[in-house]
Amino acid sequence: MALRGASDLDAGFDDHEDDAAPTTDPVTDRSADPTAELAPRAAAELSPGGGLNPAQRDVLTVLGARPHERPEFDPRLRHELRADLEERLAPSAALVPDDKVLWLSKHALSSVHGCESHYLAREAEDFAWSPTTARGTVAHKALELCVHWRGEPVPGDLVDEAFARLIASTNSVSPYLGGMTEGERADLRSGAVERVAMFLECFPPLESRWRPVTESRLRADLCQDKVVLGGKVDLTVGRPDGLRAGKVLLDLKTGGFAPAHRDDLRFYALIETLRIGTPPRLLATYYLDGGRLQHETVTEDVLQTAVERVVQGARAVVELRHEERTPVLRPGPPCRWCPLQSTCVDGQRWLEERAELEGW
Ligand code: SF4
Repeated sequence: MALRGASDLDAGFDDHEDDAAPTTDPVTDRSADPTAELAPRAAAELSPGGGLNPAQRDVLTVLGARPHERPEFDPRLRHELRADLEERLAPSAALVPDDKVLWLSKHALSSVHGCESHYLAREAEDFAWSPTTARGTVAHKALELCVHWRGEPVPGDLVDEAFARLIASTNSVSPYLGGMTEGERADLRSGAVERVAMFLECFPPLESRWRPVTESRLRADLCQDKVVLGGKVDLTVGRPDGLRAGKVLLDLKTGGFAPAHRDDLRFYALIETLRIGTPPRLLATYYLDGGRLQHETVTEDVLQTAVERVVQGARAVVELRHEERTPVLRPGPPCRWCPLQSTCVDGQRWLEERAELEGW
């Protein structure tokens, strides 16, 4: 999405940590870093009868790192990234009307870097809750509860509690959930329970000393607050130790891999670095259906790639919305749910070709 006013809600299944300076040598003192506990623990629990299934062990193996395996970053990085972004975003910020803010979320960026006509069509729509978006919100709330739940969490109990808490909250989903028929509610509950159960099956139990945080909000205000980068990470584990990276950012997905998933996390890594100065150590997308973890180590090059994508995305948003540039059609997976599908020849052709390929 772009200009403030519209919602930044995650439609799929898809907030801070203290970073106190270490009082001991961060390389040798494992207690200074919660994620350092993951690696040796993973090894210990690989033993038969350790209680973890192979998928859970795989997650531990990937997410864990000993202190000497974690990179240290230059303290100037945060300021350099901000200066670079502000200089390159300035021409776009200058085109934003005085009473508006250019709000860039992962959805806005992935959308505008995809099919620009689809981006504009979605922007023109008023947000309305749907079974899919409501299910994602309930499942997210259930996971949030699960991380802090005492005792053995049961998916159905977590979802019921999440449902009740959201209805009682000021969240805009409250009237939607409260107005569901019994059948709609049962259907939503079924989908949300499935997702929570998949998470509990695939992830090792999250211990509080790993500092797990769900729905972690990230935000960076740039160009004298004319441009805002923002979003929420599904799950974070660990924390930095001074300049030494330690946090892992995780997105949980149903369905399969898409390159935009990697870009989403790079975007969050950039905001996190602008926020606290020390980048996250690892970015990971977990695909619940397949029990598969895609991950990437954060480097300065990864962050620079994210800067480039933000600058280009901001330029495209401003050109499309304020300079009435002709949008570029880029057929692809979004054609499946695009509001322009019935009239878009390129999109229909892409869908037909996909249907043939998938039929084969
Ligand atoms: S149907 Fe596909 S190509 Fe056409 S506007 Fe929508 S996303 Fe773009």
